[in-house]
Amino acid sequence: MTNLAEARQRLLEELGRSIRDQRVLEAMARVPRERFVPPGYQEMAYEDVPLPIGEGQTISQPFIVALMTQALRLSGAQRVLEVGTGSGYQAAILGHLARQVVTVERYADLADAARARLGELGIANVEVQVAGAKLGWPAGAPYDAIIVTAAAPAVPQGLLDQLKNGGIMVIPVGPRDHQDLLVVTKHGDRIGRRSLGGCRFVPLVGEEAWLE
Ligand code: SAH
Repeated sequence: MTNLAEARQRLLEELGRSIRDQRVLEAMARVPRERFVPPGYQEMAYEDVPLPIGEGQTISQPFIVALMTQALRLSGAQRVLEVGTGSGYQAAILGHLARQVVTVERYADLADAARARLGELGIANVEVQVAGAKLGWPAGAPYDAIIVTAAAPAVPQGLLDQLKNGGIMVIPVGPRDHQDLLVVTKHGDRIGRRSLGGCRFVPLVGEEAWLE
């Protein structure tokens, strides 16, 4: 086994101690994270840390990817929106667990690179879009599940509007330097929230979020 394969095995074992959804672990076993990090960082691809991906952005820590994905309770039938494509890694995981994924990114160069990677890996049910003025991707709404991989000051109404009744949204909410990872559920006017714990994400930028 190469060092990378060993590191990958170790990471999966580590994740398996706290992540209970076997489908999430299987999806993580299938997506080569080294393909989503810049050349100089490949030997760190299976360390449980975020890594830089350009434009001051980061690919999330694998544990956080697993935790957020598990919270979406995907069975394979859902249409999912991801806000914050970044490297495309989280979108690739979602592609293995959902029927269709729409992922939006504000930086066109990151979106292009992510689209190319997903294409090379043959993940055909993920559509990468460059974000417009409105948060999310209203043209594809409503979604069964929404995952936001950048930090918002509050749960954006514009995203709640794009969530189906009975749907689940996972989103880091709080001040710029520390957030709560929230699981938000929508049942008519009743919006439920519970926290999965603390986290730290790069800011969600735009209307209903942070200024640059
Ligand atoms: N999920 C990514 C990591 C995301 S980092 C991965 O798996 O690699 C957060 C990303 O959100 C950054 O690339 C940032 O540019 C993007 N972002 C910030 N605000 C956004 C917005 N309003 N719409 C879409 N993308 C946004």
